Amino acid sequence: MKPDLFQAPDYYNIDELLTDEHRMVKDAAREWVKKEVSPIIEDAAQQATFPTSIVNGLAEIGAFGPYIPEEYGGAGLDQISYGLIMQEIERGDSGVRSTASVQSSLVMYPIYKYGTEEQRKKYLPKLASGEFMGSFGLTEPDHGSNPGGMVTNFKDKGDHYLLNGAKMWISNAPFCDVAVVWAKNEEERIHGLIVERGMEGFTTPETHNKWSLRASATGELIFQDVKVPKENLLPGRSGLGAPLSCLDSARFGIAWGAIGAAMDCYDTALRYAKERIQFGKPIAGFQLQQKKLAEMLTEITKAQLLNLRLGQLRNKDKATSAQISMAKRNNVEIAINIAREARQILGGMGITGEYSIMRHMMNLESVITYEGTHDIHLLITGLDITGIPAFK
Ligand SMILES: Cc1cc2nc3c(=O)[nH]c(=O)nc-3n(C[C@H](O)[C@H](O)[C@H](O)COP(=O)(O)OP(=O)(O)OC[C@H]3O[C@@H](n4cnc5c(N)ncnc54)[C@H](O)[C@@H]3O)c2cc1C
Repeated sequence: MKPDLFQAPDYYNIDELLTDEHRMVKDAAREWVKKEVSPIIEDAAQQATFPTSIVNGLAEIGAFGPYIPEEYGGAGLDQISYGLIMQEIERGDSGVRSTASVQSSLVMYPIYKYGTEEQRKKYLPKLASGEFMGSFGLTEPDHGSNPGGMVTNFKDKGDHYLLNGAKMWISNAPFCDVAVVWAKNEEERIHGLIVERGMEGFTTPETHNKWSLRASATGELIFQDVKVPKENLLPGRSGLGAPLSCLDSARFGIAWGAIGAAMDCYDTALRYAKERIQFGKPIAGFQLQQKKLAEMLTEITKAQLLNLRLGQLRNKDKATSAQISMAKRNNVEIAINIAREARQILGGMGITGEYSIMRHMMNLESVITYEGTHDIHLLITGLDITGIPAFK
């Protein structure tokens, strides 16, 4: 793979709107990605393996629980810093960002928000340091966009719960030490349970042959009469709103992350277009290529501004789920379109692993599907502006 010469586009000087702490966090993550992710990521993706060698580094830049308070091992940062870390990591690879997102927003967040003090103390510091890796089990083979229909269930057996069912498409599943699993009790009410590797009847087979997010491990979570101690139930919240609130946090991170991938594609295409000579001049001098580059930068700039405003709202706890949903949908869609256009600017070279663009493009096919598909996010905005649900 070519050396990482990334230079971040910032057409509206958005950096000036950030605090010193934001800039420090962003620069540290950017340097770390250049040094530790870029040199190894193409190989990891080609081999379809998650590069475990970067787990410690992810913990050190604060990617595991950026906004979880320091007393629980988190970095104690604000939402904009969290977003910037996700942007920089996904600039390297969406699969690596997925691992960090799941760990932070889908495992640490529910334990912090809905767990007991004992659960927080037991799990959060280890998840923050990367000693424990986590996964989040919501999706099932027959219930993806409609998670409320889930059939995974647990029964009260007096001194423990008995958990049965299966989750599918679960990031980090093959190597997770703990899983936050959403299941229905005997009254059909959804609760979160912390399931630990080693519990009898709990297995995590890997999903193979993916053409997308190849540097992220995906698998199933299978529960066959798993005895879960009663103290592993998250008592703070029940119902579908509990997992959905975790998705809000993860979708916010995706909105920033997708722009990282888009920035990398744009920057790579711009550099290539200035160097590649056809018909006696750089292809950057042709109007058709300039149109592509101009439109890419415009969309990136709009999305950067959208992220910053959403971060400000989230810092004040004022961002609605629908606002987060809109940013996830818009930013992933523009990122995937930018990746496709950027790939074309590179001509045949664009399909090789010499450049990051094709990997980003394939990764974004998962990002546009998980945490609510593009269609589902359109329906969320539709509901928000009309008041009429069109899901069924
Ligand atoms: C790589 C990867 C990693 C993932 N990681 C996780 C994870 O860590 N944890 C987890 O719980 N899940 C995870 N997921 C699952 C992901 O969230 C689901 O794939 C997603 O929610 C869509 O569900 P589905 O694949 O079952 O598609 P379906 O729900 O079957 O949807 C198929 C198509 O139908 C459309 N559709 C569905 N309902 C409607 C409707 N009402 N109106 C209009 N169109 C509709 C969808 O938009 C889509 O285009 C992951 C998925 C992938 C691919």
